[in-house]
Amino acid sequence: MQLKPIAYIKSPYKQKFAIPRQPNLVKEAKGEIVFEKDFSDPNCLRGIEQFSHLWLIFIFHETQDKGWSPTVQPPRLGGKESVGVFATRSTFRPNPIGMSVVENLGWEHAGSSLILKVGGQDLLDRTPILDIKPYIPYADALPDAEAGFAESVPGSEYEIVFGDEAEQHLKKIQAEYPNLKSFITSVLKQDPRPAWRQKDIDDKRYGMTLYDLNIKWQIQENQIHVLSINPES
Ligand code: SAM
Repeated sequence: MQLKPIAYIKSPYKQKFAIPRQPNLVKEAKGEIVFEKDFSDPNCLRGIEQFSHLWLIFIFHETQDKGWSPTVQPPRLGGKESVGVFATRSTFRPNPIGMSVVENLGWEHAGSSLILKVGGQDLLDRTPILDIKPYIPYADALPDAEAGFAESVPGSEYEIVFGDEAEQHLKKIQAEYPNLKSFITSVLKQDPRPAWRQKDIDDKRYGMTLYDLNIKWQIQENQIHVLSINPES
């Protein structure tokens, strides 16, 4: 069996650290799906505007060489309890395939390139996309479904506070990144630290990359302080 990517996504998430663990947790994330030449025919998207949301089927390309194991310690169980790989949405699977529902923000055909805009994705930049399908509420949204250890929407109680230096940086780049403050806030609300660390108030300075910006932050009591926002060197 041979599968060929139909497209690659352009996403502000440039590294795995700080990507939300499921789609739609950070609605401010916007991505562009850029189709490969063989699939750049706008006819492929005819009618897609009727669907507000789409399924993306993709390859966990960054971790695909790292193999898999029958059990996984999901972050939702604090990263300490084991469950079977098929009872999780782990990236480390026999076939490294991911699936995410994203918002359909329309498409454009400029020159020979076909681009589909999406929102709320949990995909790393340059992730290969294998397929796109419409999200169909009567089949895909099941209000009575149970989800065991993944029942509630994840997120931390931390208040997100921007320090003076970070605020000044935001002002300087506001024209280029108009929703950056809200985007950073939603990403940090998810507390990107490893699951086993999330209960701690550690004083480590963390760095994350969104777009081409390096954002430094630190936990201080019950707040996450954004310390600085600088172009990635
Ligand atoms: N919603 C998808 C699913 O359920 O199949 C992905 C869930 S997976 C737990 C989400 C994580 O995958 C993100 O937090 C990020 O760390 C990781 N990820 C996203 N894109 C990736 C890629 N291309 N390669 C490896 N890991 C990726």
